[in-house]
Amino acid sequence: MYYPHNPALWDEEHEIFRQTFRRFLEEEVEPNVDRWIEIGGPEPEFWLKAGEVGILGVDIPEEYGGPGGDFMYRMVIAEELGYSPAGASMGPALIGDGCSEILYRNGTEEQRRKWLPAMVKGEARAGLAITEPASGSDVASMRTTAVRKGDEWVVNGSKTYISNAKDAKFFMVGCKTDPAAGAQGISVIIVEADRGGFQLGRDLNKMGNHASNTAEIFFDNVHVPAGNLMGVEGKGMGILLGGVNMDRITWPLIGHAAATRAFHETVEFVKNRNSFGQPVFEFQNTRFKLAEIKTELAVGRAFLDEIIRNYRANGKLDMELCAMAKLWVCEMEGRIIDQCVQFHGGAGYMDEYNVSRLYTGARLHRIFAGTSEIMRLIISRTI
Ligand SMILES: Cc1cc2nc3c(=O)[nH]c(=O)nc-3n(C[C@H](O)[C@H](O)[C@H](O)COP(=O)(O)OP(=O)(O)OC[C@H]3O[C@@H](n4cnc5c(N)ncnc54)[C@H](O)[C@@H]3O)c2cc1C
Repeated sequence: MYYPHNPALWDEEHEIFRQTFRRFLEEEVEPNVDRWIEIGGPEPEFWLKAGEVGILGVDIPEEYGGPGGDFMYRMVIAEELGYSPAGASMGPALIGDGCSEILYRNGTEEQRRKWLPAMVKGEARAGLAITEPASGSDVASMRTTAVRKGDEWVVNGSKTYISNAKDAKFFMVGCKTDPAAGAQGISVIIVEADRGGFQLGRDLNKMGNHASNTAEIFFDNVHVPAGNLMGVEGKGMGILLGGVNMDRITWPLIGHAAATRAFHETVEFVKNRNSFGQPVFEFQNTRFKLAEIKTELAVGRAFLDEIIRNYRANGKLDMELCAMAKLWVCEMEGRIIDQCVQFHGGAGYMDEYNVSRLYTGARLHRIFAGTSEIMRLIISRTI
């Protein structure tokens, strides 16, 4: 079985980048992750280092300060991050860099010039703010508003569960600019964190991913220039869903790699752990369940590879396939890691064993970037 990737699908440059990113994880992330778990994420210097090494804004063109790669580089990051022992704690923190791709794809020339070079250098982090206390899956029912007054937008409302809110310099905020128009009345407005009336709320305590901060944010008559509108007024839903669609391949890639990591660690564990006078590996129950896990991983890998191949051939992601991958692979990841914890016995519940953090990290993957139920809804619409 290929792991963590199928080399035949990637160019030499992707592989060189893979080595760079893996080394970065080993040298700069993994040794520090326990500290970041304590303090809720990396210090600002970490992001500057990440910028120097060239792992931020990997698909941003050179004219905006990026290396000019393609989305394949983001997939490399997902696979390697998922397999890293730090991945289960750092997922949203590192994947949040995808905001630069959303801004590049949808921002005005002025917005691109203002933000992208700083994002690529690690000087400016950003948040994508969609979810609200009363609306998550049902994005169109959001209540945050932006009202045009002269050459400004005035934003009011609140968002919750926003990844990287604590260190974001700005947010791409889903707002109703025409509340009567439902989904067609949503626009995306850039709101800088230093605007009057903006307030960062609590850093929320979570089950896992403790080295990634997640917070509430509030807007009380926040005035931003009219030029902070991203794309076309009323077309925000497309921008938000475009960003989420990208996540719907990123998270299954992370999830598959995380499940593979759990499998590898479990095989090692059960071969060394004895019970009733023999290694746990020798019980037929263990061998059969591990055989099933290995098979499921191979099936998942083949499906993900098909999506990658499809992307290479067409230059775009197929939304239905991505929804299927997000549903199936993340559900599979949950089943596999749960079984891997079981094979570890009590050790599986202890954070000193990677499967413990992999378990709480994986639980997120069926919820955000669209829950498994929403994936079923999307797929069922195509039947
Ligand atoms: C750690 C973390 C980080 C996050 N980061 C961000 C971020 O950066 N930006 C952001 O905007 N959001 C973020 N989110 C929010 C996340 O995207 C939402 O939690 C998710 O979309 C689900 O929305 P909800 O929590 O409101 O649940 P709800 O939508 O209230 O869902 C509750 C339950 O109802 C089910 N349900 C809802 N609608 C249907 C339906 N039509 N049919 C069947 N079942 C349905 C859901 O599947 C779920 O099981 C984050 C969440 C977490 C936990």
